[in-house]
Amino acid sequence: MIIHLNKSVDNNQASVMAEELKAFCIKKDSGHVLITSSEMKELDSKYDSLVVDTFVFDTDIQLASQNYKSETREINLGEIKIGGSHNNTLVIAGPCSVESEEQIRASAEMLKSLNISTLRAGCYKPRTSPYSFQGLGLEGLKLLDKMRSEYGLNIITEVRDSTHVDEIIEYADIIQVGAKSMYDHGILKKCSKINKPVLIKRGFGTTLQEFVQMAEFVLSGGNENVILCERGIRTFETKTRFTLDLCGVAYLKEYTNLPIILDPSHAMGYRYGVADISRACTAMGVEGLLIEVHPNPSVAKSDAAQQLDHDQFTGLLGTLRGVAKSIGREII
Ligand code: PEP
Ligand code: MN
Repeated sequence: MIIHLNKSVDNNQASVMAEELKAFCIKKDSGHVLITSSEMKELDSKYDSLVVDTFVFDTDIQLASQNYKSETREINLGEIKIGGSHNNTLVIAGPCSVESEEQIRASAEMLKSLNISTLRAGCYKPRTSPYSFQGLGLEGLKLLDKMRSEYGLNIITEVRDSTHVDEIIEYADIIQVGAKSMYDHGILKKCSKINKPVLIKRGFGTTLQEFVQMAEFVLSGGNENVILCERGIRTFETKTRFTLDLCGVAYLKEYTNLPIILDPSHAMGYRYGVADISRACTAMGVEGLLIEVHPNPSVAKSDAAQQLDHDQFTGLLGTLRGVAKSIGREII
Protein backbone atom coordinates (compact mmCIF):
# COMPACT_ATOMS: atom_id res chain seq x y z
CA MET A 1 0.00 0.00 0.00
CA ILE A 2 1.16 3.52 -0.73
CA ILE A 3 -0.01 6.06 1.84
CA HIS A 4 0.13 9.81 1.25
CA LEU A 5 0.29 11.71 4.52
CA ASN A 6 -0.97 15.18 5.26
CA LYS A 7 1.53 17.93 4.57
CA SER A 8 1.21 18.94 8.24
CA VAL A 9 2.50 15.57 9.49
CA ASP A 10 6.03 16.12 10.84
CA ASN A 11 9.09 13.90 10.44
CA ASN A 12 8.65 12.38 13.85
CA GLN A 13 4.99 11.42 13.37
CA ALA A 14 5.76 10.02 9.92
CA SER A 15 8.62 7.88 11.17
CA VAL A 16 6.57 6.53 14.08
CA MET A 17 3.85 5.51 11.64
CA ALA A 18 6.42 4.03 9.23
CA GLU A 19 7.91 2.03 12.09
CA GLU A 20 4.49 0.70 13.14
CA LEU A 21 3.61 -0.31 9.58
CA LYS A 22 7.13 -1.52 8.66
CA ALA A 23 6.97 0.94 5.81
CA PHE A 24 9.47 2.91 3.76
CA CYS A 25 9.10 6.63 4.30
CA ILE A 26 9.91 9.20 1.60
CA LYS A 27 9.77 12.91 2.32
CA LYS A 28 8.39 14.99 -0.56
CA ASP A 29 7.42 18.64 -0.88
CA SER A 30 3.78 17.54 -0.91
CA GLY A 31 4.19 15.57 2.35
CA HIS A 32 5.52 12.18 3.45
CA VAL A 33 4.78 9.05 1.45
CA LEU A 34 4.81 5.63 3.14
CA ILE A 35 5.11 2.36 1.23
CA THR A 36 4.23 -0.93 2.91
CA SER A 37 4.10 -4.46 1.51
CA SER A 38 1.31 -4.91 -1.05
CA GLU A 39 -0.12 -7.53 1.33
CA MET A 40 -1.56 -4.66 3.33
CA LYS A 41 -5.00 -3.88 1.91
CA GLU A 42 -6.56 -1.75 4.66
CA LEU A 43 -5.29 0.95 6.97
CA ASP A 44 -6.32 1.17 10.63
CA SER A 45 -8.75 4.06 11.18
CA LYS A 46 -6.51 5.40 13.97
CA TYR A 47 -4.35 6.93 11.20
CA ASP A 48 -7.27 8.68 9.47
CA SER A 49 -6.35 12.20 10.56
CA LEU A 50 -2.79 11.81 9.19
CA VAL A 51 -3.70 10.40 5.78
CA VAL A 52 -4.71 12.11 2.55
CA ASP A 53 -4.85 9.17 0.17
CA THR A 54 -4.11 5.43 -0.04
CA PHE A 55 -3.38 3.14 -3.02
CA VAL A 56 -3.79 -0.62 -2.84
CA PHE A 57 -1.95 -3.07 -5.13
CA ASP A 58 -2.09 -6.76 -6.08
CA THR A 59 1.69 -7.17 -6.12
CA ASP A 60 4.81 -5.33 -4.95
CA ILE A 61 4.92 -3.36 -8.19
CA GLN A 62 3.65 -0.21 -6.50
CA LEU A 63 5.54 3.06 -7.06
CA ALA A 64 6.32 1.85 -10.59
CA SER A 65 2.70 0.95 -11.29
CA GLN A 66 0.41 2.85 -13.62
CA ASN A 67 -2.29 2.33 -10.99
CA TYR A 68 -0.31 4.75 -8.86
CA LYS A 69 0.92 7.19 -11.49
CA SER A 70 -0.49 6.79 -14.97
CA GLU A 71 1.90 9.02 -16.90
CA THR A 72 5.41 7.81 -17.73
CA ARG A 73 7.83 9.41 -15.29
CA GLU A 74 9.73 12.40 -16.59
CA ILE A 75 13.52 12.17 -16.34
CA ASN A 76 15.73 15.24 -16.56
CA LEU A 77 19.06 14.84 -18.28
CA GLY A 78 20.52 18.30 -18.09
CA GLU A 79 18.96 20.24 -20.92
CA ILE A 80 16.99 17.31 -22.28
CA LYS A 81 14.06 15.38 -20.89
CA ILE A 82 12.53 11.99 -21.57
CA GLY A 83 9.21 10.51 -20.43
CA GLY A 84 6.37 12.70 -19.18
CA SER A 85 4.71 14.51 -22.05
CA HIS A 86 7.95 14.63 -24.07
CA ASN A 87 7.81 12.45 -27.13
CA ASN A 88 11.56 12.03 -27.19
CA THR A 89 13.55 8.94 -28.03
CA LEU A 90 16.98 9.27 -26.50
CA VAL A 91 19.80 7.63 -28.43
CA ILE A 92 22.56 6.52 -26.08
CA ALA A 93 25.60 5.50 -28.10
CA GLY A 94 29.27 4.72 -27.69
CA PRO A 95 31.66 1.83 -27.34
CA CYS A 96 31.18 -1.13 -25.03
CA SER A 97 34.29 -0.10 -23.05
CA VAL A 98 36.49 2.95 -22.67
CA GLU A 99 39.79 1.71 -24.10
CA SER A 100 41.94 4.81 -24.58
CA GLU A 101 41.64 8.59 -24.80
CA GLU A 102 41.97 8.45 -28.57
CA GLN A 103 39.14 5.93 -28.88
CA ILE A 104 36.69 7.65 -26.55
CA ARG A 105 37.46 11.07 -28.06
CA ALA A 106 36.67 9.73 -31.53
CA SER A 107 33.33 8.49 -30.14
CA ALA A 108 32.57 11.81 -28.43
CA GLU A 109 33.40 13.79 -31.57
CA MET A 110 31.17 11.59 -33.68
CA LEU A 111 28.21 11.98 -31.31
CA LYS A 112 28.70 15.72 -31.15
CA SER A 113 28.76 15.98 -34.94
CA LEU A 114 25.46 14.05 -35.11
CA ASN A 115 23.77 16.13 -32.40
CA ILE A 116 23.53 13.14 -30.05
CA SER A 117 23.99 14.10 -26.42
CA THR A 118 24.53 10.91 -24.44
CA LEU A 119 27.77 8.94 -24.53
CA ARG A 120 27.96 5.42 -23.13
CA ALA A 121 31.05 3.36 -22.33
CA GLY A 122 31.90 0.90 -19.60
CA CYS A 123 34.86 1.26 -17.23
CA TYR A 124 34.18 -1.71 -14.94
CA LYS A 125 33.20 -4.55 -17.23
CA PRO A 126 31.31 -7.58 -15.93
CA ARG A 127 33.06 -10.09 -18.21
CA THR A 128 32.25 -13.76 -18.45
CA SER A 129 35.97 -14.64 -18.34
CA PRO A 130 38.51 -13.43 -15.76
CA TYR A 131 41.17 -13.48 -18.51
CA SER A 132 39.56 -10.93 -20.81
CA PHE A 133 39.75 -7.13 -20.62
CA GLN A 134 38.08 -5.93 -17.42
CA GLY A 135 37.91 -2.20 -18.19
CA LEU A 136 40.08 0.79 -17.28
CA GLY A 137 38.31 1.47 -13.97
CA LEU A 138 38.83 4.93 -12.48
CA GLU A 139 41.13 5.94 -15.34
CA GLY A 140 38.22 5.29 -17.72
CA LEU A 141 35.83 7.32 -15.57
CA LYS A 142 38.24 10.25 -15.68
CA LEU A 143 38.36 10.02 -19.47
CA LEU A 144 34.55 10.07 -19.62
CA ASP A 145 34.54 13.07 -17.31
CA LYS A 146 36.96 14.81 -19.65
CA MET A 147 34.73 14.08 -22.66
CA ARG A 148 31.74 15.44 -20.79
CA SER A 149 33.46 18.73 -20.09
CA GLU A 150 35.08 19.10 -23.51
CA TYR A 151 32.06 18.08 -25.60
CA GLY A 152 29.13 18.86 -23.27
CA LEU A 153 27.83 15.29 -23.37
CA ASN A 154 25.87 13.34 -20.78
CA ILE A 155 27.78 10.30 -19.62
CA ILE A 156 26.33 6.89 -18.81
CA THR A 157 28.52 4.11 -17.48
CA GLU A 158 27.83 0.94 -15.59
CA VAL A 159 28.41 -0.12 -12.03
CA ARG A 160 29.57 -3.73 -11.82
CA ASP A 161 29.57 -4.17 -8.04
CA SER A 162 29.17 -2.19 -4.85
CA THR A 163 32.95 -1.66 -4.38
CA HIS A 164 32.97 1.24 -6.87
CA VAL A 165 29.36 2.41 -6.81
CA ASP A 166 30.39 5.70 -5.14
CA GLU A 167 32.87 6.47 -7.94
CA ILE A 168 30.25 5.83 -10.62
CA ILE A 169 27.72 7.99 -8.79
CA GLU A 170 30.30 10.79 -8.61
CA TYR A 171 31.30 10.67 -12.31
CA ALA A 172 28.23 9.54 -14.27
CA ASP A 173 25.16 11.55 -15.25
CA ILE A 174 23.16 8.34 -15.58
CA ILE A 175 24.12 5.28 -13.54
CA GLN A 176 23.77 2.02 -15.46
CA VAL A 177 23.13 -1.07 -13.36
CA GLY A 178 24.12 -3.99 -15.57
CA ALA A 179 22.17 -7.13 -16.36
CA LYS A 180 24.56 -9.13 -14.19
CA SER A 181 24.38 -6.68 -11.25
CA MET A 182 20.71 -5.79 -11.12
CA TYR A 183 20.13 -7.95 -8.04
CA ASP A 184 23.00 -6.35 -6.08
CA HIS A 185 21.25 -4.72 -3.17
CA GLY A 186 24.35 -2.75 -2.16
CA ILE A 187 24.19 -1.00 -5.55
CA LEU A 188 20.42 -0.56 -5.52
CA LYS A 189 20.46 0.90 -2.02
CA LYS A 190 23.17 3.44 -2.87
CA CYS A 191 21.29 4.36 -6.06
CA SER A 192 18.09 4.85 -4.07
CA LYS A 193 19.65 7.63 -2.02
CA ILE A 194 20.66 9.89 -4.91
CA ASN A 195 18.71 11.90 -7.45
CA LYS A 196 20.67 11.03 -10.57
CA PRO A 197 18.86 8.85 -13.12
CA VAL A 198 19.49 5.13 -12.73
CA LEU A 199 19.12 2.82 -15.74
CA ILE A 200 18.50 -0.77 -14.66
CA LYS A 201 19.12 -3.48 -17.21
CA ARG A 202 17.02 -6.60 -17.09
CA GLY A 203 18.97 -9.70 -16.15
CA PHE A 204 18.85 -12.36 -18.84
CA GLY A 205 17.02 -14.76 -16.51
CA THR A 206 14.85 -12.16 -14.81
CA THR A 207 11.06 -12.15 -14.97
CA LEU A 208 9.26 -8.87 -15.58
CA GLN A 209 7.91 -8.95 -12.01
CA GLU A 210 11.43 -9.33 -10.56
CA PHE A 211 12.77 -6.69 -12.93
CA VAL A 212 10.28 -4.05 -11.86
CA GLN A 213 10.69 -5.03 -8.21
CA MET A 214 14.41 -4.24 -8.48
CA ALA A 215 13.35 -0.80 -9.71
CA GLU A 216 11.09 -0.58 -6.65
CA PHE A 217 14.20 -0.93 -4.45
CA VAL A 218 15.50 2.33 -5.92
CA LEU A 219 12.14 4.12 -5.99
CA SER A 220 11.25 3.20 -2.41
CA GLY A 221 14.47 4.77 -1.14
CA GLY A 222 13.37 8.10 -2.62
CA ASN A 223 15.03 8.22 -6.04
CA GLU A 224 12.23 8.82 -8.55
CA ASN A 225 14.50 8.74 -11.60
CA VAL A 226 14.52 5.13 -12.66
CA ILE A 227 14.69 3.91 -16.26
CA LEU A 228 14.22 0.28 -17.33
CA CYS A 229 16.36 -1.28 -20.04
CA GLU A 230 15.41 -4.44 -21.92
CA ARG A 231 18.58 -6.00 -23.38
CA GLY A 232 17.50 -9.52 -24.20
CA ILE A 233 16.79 -12.62 -22.19
CA ARG A 234 18.12 -16.14 -22.53
CA THR A 235 15.86 -18.57 -24.35
CA PHE A 236 16.42 -21.90 -26.09
CA GLU A 237 17.66 -19.99 -29.16
CA THR A 238 21.42 -19.89 -29.66
CA LYS A 239 21.80 -18.37 -33.13
CA THR A 240 21.50 -14.87 -31.66
CA ARG A 241 23.15 -13.88 -28.39
CA PHE A 242 19.87 -13.22 -26.52
CA THR A 243 16.19 -12.78 -27.39
CA LEU A 244 14.91 -9.23 -27.18
CA ASP A 245 11.63 -9.47 -25.29
CA LEU A 246 9.43 -6.91 -27.05
CA CYS A 247 6.27 -8.51 -25.65
CA GLY A 248 7.78 -7.80 -22.24
CA VAL A 249 8.32 -4.21 -23.31
CA ALA A 250 4.65 -3.95 -24.29
CA TYR A 251 3.79 -5.20 -20.78
CA LEU A 252 6.09 -2.63 -19.17
CA LYS A 253 4.56 0.16 -21.27
CA GLU A 254 1.06 -0.92 -20.32
CA TYR A 255 1.50 -1.51 -16.60
CA THR A 256 4.43 0.57 -15.37
CA ASN A 257 5.19 4.28 -15.32
CA LEU A 258 8.91 3.90 -15.94
CA PRO A 259 10.65 5.13 -19.10
CA ILE A 260 12.00 2.29 -21.22
CA ILE A 261 15.26 2.06 -23.15
CA LEU A 262 15.87 -0.80 -25.58
CA ASP A 263 19.31 -2.26 -26.21
CA PRO A 264 19.41 -4.05 -29.59
CA SER A 265 23.22 -4.42 -29.48
CA HIS A 266 23.50 -6.75 -26.49
CA ALA A 267 20.35 -8.64 -27.48
CA MET A 268 21.51 -9.41 -31.01
CA GLY A 269 25.20 -9.87 -30.28
CA TYR A 270 26.00 -9.40 -33.98
CA ARG A 271 26.34 -6.22 -35.97
CA TYR A 272 24.17 -7.40 -38.84
CA GLY A 273 20.87 -7.24 -36.94
CA VAL A 274 21.36 -4.07 -34.96
CA ALA A 275 20.05 -1.54 -37.51
CA ASP A 276 16.82 -3.42 -38.29
CA ILE A 277 16.08 -4.07 -34.62
CA SER A 278 16.84 -0.45 -33.71
CA ARG A 279 14.25 0.72 -36.24
CA ALA A 280 11.70 -1.79 -34.91
CA CYS A 281 12.38 -0.65 -31.34
CA THR A 282 12.00 3.00 -32.31
CA ALA A 283 8.67 2.18 -33.94
CA MET A 284 7.48 0.75 -30.60
CA GLY A 285 7.54 4.24 -29.14
CA VAL A 286 9.97 3.86 -26.26
CA GLU A 287 11.99 6.52 -24.45
CA GLY A 288 15.30 5.46 -25.86
CA LEU A 289 17.78 3.12 -27.47
CA LEU A 290 21.22 2.04 -26.39
CA ILE A 291 23.49 1.22 -29.31
CA GLU A 292 27.13 0.15 -29.17
CA VAL A 293 29.34 2.04 -31.63
CA HIS A 294 33.13 1.87 -31.89
CA PRO A 295 35.56 3.83 -34.10
CA ASN A 296 37.10 0.51 -35.18
CA PRO A 297 34.98 -2.44 -34.04
CA SER A 298 37.44 -5.06 -35.29
CA VAL A 299 39.91 -4.12 -32.54
CA ALA A 300 37.33 -3.54 -29.76
CA LYS A 301 38.40 -5.06 -26.44
CA SER A 302 34.85 -6.18 -25.56
CA ASP A 303 31.73 -6.99 -27.57
CA ALA A 304 33.62 -6.56 -30.87
CA ALA A 305 31.08 -8.57 -32.91
CA GLN A 306 28.09 -6.35 -32.17
CA GLN A 307 29.45 -2.80 -32.35
CA LEU A 308 28.63 -0.63 -35.35
CA ASP A 309 31.30 1.53 -36.94
CA HIS A 310 30.76 5.26 -37.27
CA ASP A 311 29.50 5.13 -40.85
CA GLN A 312 27.01 2.39 -40.01
CA PHE A 313 25.77 4.34 -37.01
CA THR A 314 25.47 7.57 -38.97
CA GLY A 315 23.41 5.83 -41.66
CA LEU A 316 21.22 4.14 -39.04
CA LEU A 317 20.57 7.38 -37.19
CA GLY A 318 19.17 9.02 -40.34
CA THR A 319 16.62 6.22 -40.72
CA LEU A 320 15.76 6.26 -36.99
CA ARG A 321 14.88 9.94 -37.24
CA GLY A 322 12.41 9.06 -40.01
CA VAL A 323 10.83 6.17 -38.07
CA ALA A 324 10.54 8.29 -34.93
CA LYS A 325 8.92 11.11 -36.87
CA SER A 326 6.33 8.75 -38.33
CA ILE A 327 5.02 8.02 -34.81
CA GLY A 328 5.26 11.62 -33.58
CA ARG A 329 8.53 11.24 -31.73
CA GLU A 330 11.87 12.96 -32.01
CA ILE A 331 15.30 11.36 -31.78
CA ILE A 332 17.49 13.26 -29.31
C1 PEP B 1 27.05 -3.16 -21.54
O1 PEP B 1 26.13 -2.31 -21.60
O2 PEP B 1 28.15 -3.02 -22.09
C2 PEP B 1 26.77 -4.44 -20.85
C3 PEP B 1 27.74 -5.17 -20.31
O3 PEP B 1 25.47 -4.77 -20.84
P1 PEP B 1 24.65 -5.93 -20.07
O4 PEP B 1 24.69 -5.58 -18.62
O5 PEP B 1 23.29 -5.78 -20.68
O6 PEP B 1 25.29 -7.24 -20.40
MN1 MN C 1 28.85 -4.29 -24.22
